Amino acid sequence: MTANAPITQDLLTIPRKDGEGSLPNLIGMRREALGEALAGIGIPEKQIKMRVGQIWAWIYQKGVQSFDDMTNLSKDIRANLAQNFALTRPEIVTRQISTDGTRKYLLRINGGHEVEAVYIPESDRGTLCISSQVGCTLTCSFCHTGTQKLVRNLTAAEIIGQVLVARDDLEEWGKPAGDKRLLSNIVLMGMGEPLYNTDNVRDAMLIAMDNEGVALSRRRITLSTSGIVPEIIRAGDEIGCMLAISFHATTDEVRDTLVPINRKHKIAELLDACRNYPRLSNSERITFEYVMLKDVNDSDEDARRLVKLIAGIPAKINLIPFNPWPGAPYERSDWDRIETFADIVNKAGYASPVRTPRGEDIMAACGQLKSATERARKSAAQIAKEIEGL
Ligand code: SAH
Ligand code: SF4
Repeated sequence: MTANAPITQDLLTIPRKDGEGSLPNLIGMRREALGEALAGIGIPEKQIKMRVGQIWAWIYQKGVQSFDDMTNLSKDIRANLAQNFALTRPEIVTRQISTDGTRKYLLRINGGHEVEAVYIPESDRGTLCISSQVGCTLTCSFCHTGTQKLVRNLTAAEIIGQVLVARDDLEEWGKPAGDKRLLSNIVLMGMGEPLYNTDNVRDAMLIAMDNEGVALSRRRITLSTSGIVPEIIRAGDEIGCMLAISFHATTDEVRDTLVPINRKHKIAELLDACRNYPRLSNSERITFEYVMLKDVNDSDEDARRLVKLIAGIPAKINLIPFNPWPGAPYERSDWDRIETFADIVNKAGYASPVRTPRGEDIMAACGQLKSATERARKSAAQIAKEIEGL
């Protein structure tokens, strides 16, 4: 398994433009931390709550990128803030727009690492798929991200920063409450295992849910996990968002090979955690994601076992046709196989939409995300090998 590099202090602060040291980023701080930071630069105690509210609204409601634009703060306070803090978002390296409207962003974060975020417009919603790590320490055999060597957790600033960057790009700041949002939903289904970075994911999602900021309902945020059981329990208590499980197999034997974390947390243990997830009901169902891999997990017996296993859990089943990537060891199941599988699941009473691959032309679909730096490094290594072989 790939090691996960820790978040070091230098990743939490932003280098100053003049090269003289680095500054803490106000983006990504919870209200309490923001208050402490303001106290630290001499804002009087009795003003803190009001100042936090003002700065919060500028950052998360109006999307300003400079302290200078925070016009309801005095010039002195603005200068003091600019002297001591940064307001830094991930930087867009490339933006690709698919023929179906899907937008894929390659983002550069502190330290020069890169992650991807994907915006998927639909008729009734707009979903931003965000990353929680650079790469992933897990090595699910069908997932491109899992083959990436470099791994580090994203900071809360980098996680919520993906939302801010997408809103910049969609020009969606300062709209009156109640207006239809272009960015209405968040799914933590990009690069990384969110429950190996629970604290930062929690902080970022609590910011996303804060009513005086991005103001998304917790029902519009879905966290997808490969099944880190102890963290599922924490996520239920501390975040309270919707849960998706990357299930993908109906026996421990097959799941052990597809989703290696299953060797530690078996199917029965995972389903127990699902049964105990808070607020489960018909309107708050768990999504079971199931990638359709030809001749691996797509038989009628699999479909029948699947519905038996999840019996009693308010659930929907999301069938994902496998999205191929260069060198992948699997094939997508045939369409008639996927339909027959979906039929069995439907007849058992579960909604089972087949997820239409989006942004295929720009490699933006589930499991295809992998940063360009890694690709570049790999091809450099390959070139070296080729030269060696000459
Ligand atoms: N690490 C988390 C979230 C990111 S992956 C998790 O595993 O749940 C988001 C979803 O895409 C997961 O269900 C994952 O299993 C699925 N996925 C990964 N690679 C895929 C591929 N090549 N084709 C289709 N789905 C894939
Ligand atoms: Fe990591 Fe999820 Fe990919 Fe598995 S499917 S390697 S947990 S990103």
